[in-house]
Amino acid sequence: MDAALNAAQTLAKKNIASVFTHLGENVSDRAEARQVAEHYVRVIQQIRQLDMSAEISVKLTQLGLDLSLEFCAENLDRIIREEKPTSTVWVDMESSNYVDATLGLYRQALKKYPNVGICLQAYLYRTKDDLDDLLPLRPSIRLVKGAYKEPASVAWPEKRRVDDSYFDLAQQMLRAKQSGNCPRPAFGTHDVALIRRLSQFCAERGFSKNDLEIQMLYGIQRAEQERLADDGCRSVVLIAYGNYWYPWFVRRLAERPANLWFMLRNVFAS
Ligand SMILES: Cc1cc2nc3c(=O)[nH]c(=O)nc-3n(C[C@H](O)[C@H](O)[C@H](O)COP(=O)(O)OP(=O)(O)OC[C@H]3O[C@@H](n4cnc5c(N)ncnc54)[C@H](O)[C@@H]3O)c2cc1C
Repeated sequence: MDAALNAAQTLAKKNIASVFTHLGENVSDRAEARQVAEHYVRVIQQIRQLDMSAEISVKLTQLGLDLSLEFCAENLDRIIREEKPTSTVWVDMESSNYVDATLGLYRQALKKYPNVGICLQAYLYRTKDDLDDLLPLRPSIRLVKGAYKEPASVAWPEKRRVDDSYFDLAQQMLRAKQSGNCPRPAFGTHDVALIRRLSQFCAERGFSKNDLEIQMLYGIQRAEQERLADDGCRSVVLIAYGNYWYPWFVRRLAERPANLWFMLRNVFAS
């Protein structure tokens, strides 16, 4: 956590905000899930003490979703209660078999706390309907392409279709912002061509630069993160930390096998 806080302080000097996530998923022990919730409470308190521009993002299976919906809801509630109303607690979206449960708990939390945001995945066929259903509730949404290996029965296998779906959903979120139905649309992507299209759409629609929020992973497309911040957009970096890194790392490798060669080259060069 200290390393993550240091990284965020360095980013803050470049006008880049941070979102912290403690690596971990599918916790099957109640005590451990409670500890995760308490950990996030301490992180929120630390962010407040240090007066940092930082938020947190949580995975519901790390808060006990596999154990019980009520138990997971309690842990989520414990975290959001601690957050100040002007900061968002983000809820990650996991593999497709968790989408219904995640959206159900998200709706429940949103009724009580307007400052909770949800991640939606553009690769799922269902996301268009999920977005339509959520917008009347005024959700904050982080749109991503989707990181899990999903069957063709639920998600587009072709990248081009995922990119098209992303841009369609993104436009809908931005239009909803203009009509007051999506207070905070955020775009979790490193796809520079897509970011250009989103910037252009925002400019044509009369948004201010600061209305465009792009979130990226720590260390990926650094130059673009800085360019966006310098240009007046809201540039945010998700910093993942902790010991339970393996499944997360494997998903990142699957997205970009070139990373494996990059890593091996660095191991053998050192
Ligand atoms: C802030 C944030 C939160 C996220 N939360 C979730 C979540 O809750 N649920 C979920 O399913 N997914 C989540 N993701 C992951 C997301 O679904 C994608 O898998 C990931 O962002 C890669 O897609 P892309 O939009 O960057 O586009 P891509 O088309 O995959 O990549 C565009 C370009 O970005 C670069 N790039 C992308 N990924 C990498 C990488 N790993 N290493 C090096 N370069 C890379 C490459 O240059 C690539 O050509 C999140 C991503 C971000 C940034």
